[in-house]
Amino acid sequence: MREYRDRMVQEVMACTCDRCGRRMTPNDDQWEWYEKVSLDWRGGFGSVFGDGAHMSLDLCQQCVRDTLGPWLRVDSPSAPDGSIQTLKGVVSRPDAPVSVEQMNPWDLNERD
Ligand SMILES: [Zn+2]
Repeated sequence: MREYRDRMVQEVMACTCDRCGRRMTPNDDQWEWYEKVSLDWRGGFGSVFGDGAHMSLDLCQQCVRDTLGPWLRVDSPSAPDGSIQTLKGVVSRPDAPVSVEQMNPWDLNERD
């Protein structure tokens, strides 16, 4: 038998692009919210930022394209037959409960 206790959890409610200043929230423009890129890492010994330095960065998708575009490897999500198989299982509304059937819309008998 498990016993539970309440605990306080913080979630990101807004993010500001460090390059252009665009403020993004999950309620304003969901496309911008889900396409932003956030990096957060700690350098090791010999890091060009200093040994053990902590780095973080938040960019909107336009700034990712404008700053990193020439070096990004962008692959199309299309499968050889033209369908978008790689998007199966993506939750369109992460705040709403999703059944196993919704996450796996294909017929399990088809896989045999
Ligand atoms: Zn930006």
